Amino acid sequence: MALPPGPSPGRRAAEPPSDVHGRPFRSLRISVTDRCNMRCRYCMPEDEYVWLPRGSILTFEEIDRLAGIFAGLGVTKLRLTGGEPLLRHDLPELVKLLAGRAGIDELALTTNGILLGESAASLRAAGLTRVTISLDTLRPERMEAFARSKRHADVIAGLRAARAAGFTGIKLNTVVIRGFNDDELEPLIEFGRAEGCEVRFIEYMDVGGANGWRPEDVVSRREILDRLGRRYGAISERPDGAGGSAPADRFALPDGTVFGIIASTTEPFCRSCDRGRLTADGHFLLCLYAERGLDLLTPLRAGAGDAELTELLGDAWAAREDRGAEDRARLADRGALYQLQALRADPRKEMHTRGG
Ligand code: SAM
Ligand code: SF4
Ligand code: SF4
Repeated sequence: MALPPGPSPGRRAAEPPSDVHGRPFRSLRISVTDRCNMRCRYCMPEDEYVWLPRGSILTFEEIDRLAGIFAGLGVTKLRLTGGEPLLRHDLPELVKLLAGRAGIDELALTTNGILLGESAASLRAAGLTRVTISLDTLRPERMEAFARSKRHADVIAGLRAARAAGFTGIKLNTVVIRGFNDDELEPLIEFGRAEGCEVRFIEYMDVGGANGWRPEDVVSRREILDRLGRRYGAISERPDGAGGSAPADRFALPDGTVFGIIASTTEPFCRSCDRGRLTADGHFLLCLYAERGLDLLTPLRAGAGDAELTELLGDAWAAREDRGAEDRARLADRGALYQLQALRADPRKEMHTRGG
């Protein structure tokens, strides 16, 4: 039954739900657009995409309202992502709204960095607390071949602009793919050290499907550690990384340089996963691998009150059983998750729509 619009109710706020496996709901990735100015082969390899209809894209006010409801359910961390989130016009305005939300103590951005140079200072002024930049290679020609972008220099300039704007603890995300950039682990670590950023190596995941994912292209956490151990000497695992709800395990080289590994493919961490996802058109996903999401756009635009939306989301989280990456890891013959036709029929199945 639809309840009349009104303030957020106390029931959920006082009693945030845990899911079926006892996992609380703490962090939300908000995709603000499905568009992108790059075409990374592991994420958007196609020439043509079915885009979410423009009229269905949540406005900043709608995102902010939903953020308040999520905060009432226990969410304290928000991450803006996409597609490329900096393609969304006036993103600092959204940051300002979200930074003012009670209960949110971390407000982060994941970006490919191309447009960061122009907006780092205003994002910081608006209240963004953290930045993660995706950087798969230090070689511009590789980026051009692999991601169809000639703007490598802009990514580096964006990273430096973020530092100049006062962001600290900047993370560099590198998806490691055999035969593409697995010879750049050491240069990337050294680049991160020189730039005061922490590199996080991400195992190649089989989300989406157009990328033609194959197990043999994955460079595992084990292999990355072996490689770096041979080059730098004994690597120690840091207690602040492993076992928590953050996806990255953190390690230190003998000289103290810290780096992370996100082993979503070979050693998934679903048991501690406290993350939900919101697509740019207002569909709520309980897992990166979820078959489909919960449509919030329709009730939101039909005038649902905060109490109704809170109940809808709280019930969805309480019934959450998803452990998508662990389920995938158990498959005997694992290949691409979806065939192209399935992706075209439902663009919400794409990685760039789910926000990574
Ligand atoms: N465009 C922004 C960016 O690239 O940082 C934000 C969106 S992107 C989908 C978020 C993250 O997902 C990026 O760090 C990207 O490298 C990662 N990603 C995309 N496809 C992936 C895949 N198949 N396996 C592992 N990580 C992937
Ligand atoms: Fe765009 Fe990010 Fe996907 Fe690359 S990983 S295609 S930058 S959304
Ligand atoms: Fe969480 Fe799903 Fe990723 Fe597992 S696969 S860590 S449950 S989002």
